Amino acid sequence: MRDVTRVHERALFVSPRIPSELELQARWFAGDFGKHFVSTAGDEIEIFQFGTWNREAGPDFRDAAIRINRSEPVRGCIEIDLLDRSWETHGHATNPAFDSTVLHVFVERSEREFFSRTKSNRNVPQVCINPTTLPQVFNANVPLARPGRCQAPLKDLPEERVFSVLDAAAQFRLRQKANRIRNKIDTHGRDETLFQEIASALGYKENKLPFTLLAQRLPLRLLRENVRDCEALLFGGAGFLHTHDLDVYKKSAREYVRQLWDGWWPHRDELQRFILPANTWRLSSTRPLNHPQRRLAALGILARDWSRLQRASGKNSVAAANDLFRALEHPFWNFHYTLTAAPSAKKMALIGESRIADILANVLFPFWLAHDVAAAASPSTPLWAEYAKLPAQLSNRRLETAATRLFGNDSRRKDFLKTVAHQQGLLQIYEDFCMQDNSDCAQCPFPEQMANWM
Ligand code: SF4
Repeated sequence: MRDVTRVHERALFVSPRIPSELELQARWFAGDFGKHFVSTAGDEIEIFQFGTWNREAGPDFRDAAIRINRSEPVRGCIEIDLLDRSWETHGHATNPAFDSTVLHVFVERSEREFFSRTKSNRNVPQVCINPTTLPQVFNANVPLARPGRCQAPLKDLPEERVFSVLDAAAQFRLRQKANRIRNKIDTHGRDETLFQEIASALGYKENKLPFTLLAQRLPLRLLRENVRDCEALLFGGAGFLHTHDLDVYKKSAREYVRQLWDGWWPHRDELQRFILPANTWRLSSTRPLNHPQRRLAALGILARDWSRLQRASGKNSVAAANDLFRALEHPFWNFHYTLTAAPSAKKMALIGESRIADILANVLFPFWLAHDVAAAASPSTPLWAEYAKLPAQLSNRRLETAATRLFGNDSRRKDFLKTVAHQQGLLQIYEDFCMQDNSDCAQCPFPEQMANWM
């Protein structure tokens, strides 16, 4: 299916979305733009190390390393802006804190040629990135759903044939995720990668960005060095500890907030630059049970007891992972929706079943596959069998759109989406064909491929 030569054009009715500077930085650091670039002057640029988020004044990332035209790596800082001219308008050219910048990355180029120069008049190589080429965006555009041309051949395919199409697409998707994670492990190490991926999954779709930023800026290493305060660091860094006036909190929350404050204030000055602005969070569309503050507490517990997660993850076992996440307990968050809400009489799970299933499908299985050479080579190993058995928990708008386009009102539609693997397979087909199509199905090769299968 993937070998077909096609013209790749952007889908109709989808306007290019320019991410915020923060999102851009997070995706750069995650390696989503890749490691190899050509500078505006035509030099080959390779990112050797992405460095670390800079906590102080100066460029966004420090201790990075790049190679220019395959020469020896050069260490220094990397600055990321939306516009090339921000270098000038933000005063970087005259700020000595930017003297060690080795790369200036931006999205939009000015009409007139523009050079990034340091205070000492050194020319900084420039790289222009294009966010519209990213394989996935934090918020995907969802076109209107209506049955597509492939509905007819799919309707005539026996059930087991449809299953095998979905299985093949799911295996491809899982391998892609494992490859991405393997690359991330090369850059950030095994534990930091797992931590960042779990944080991102806990952020759900709405708060994926702030969770990713937190995990990058307050890396596992830092939290483990301050293990007693790690929950406080996460809440402070998230910007959830703005006021130390305890009167704004319910009586039941005051002791807990006081503990968070006590843990946060010794670090606050040092980490001031990392505190997320309030508008980074999307709180209005989340269910109270899934409020990011509850998820952040769960992340704090996982960081604090990291060896438990390592042991559970090391077993490559769905049961061990389920046991770990279901057993997460917190004296405050078991009974609270937010820091300021009234307590609930009923105990609530910190991470619900559908989120656990999501972490298994999108983090742990790809992570296990990234380490399992035998499974990566063949889909007949136990890992794949376990993956195929994962039951689907929830649907979402994107899945429903894909199901409507491919299966329409086929009476078997529900049966096709009962497992995580089949849902993931459907999403892969949707992204590879529907999202690439701008001919209203007319030139999409998928229906013919299905017809040939018959
Ligand atoms: S674009 Fe292709 S895969 Fe998508 S609905 Fe149309 S025919 Fe089916």
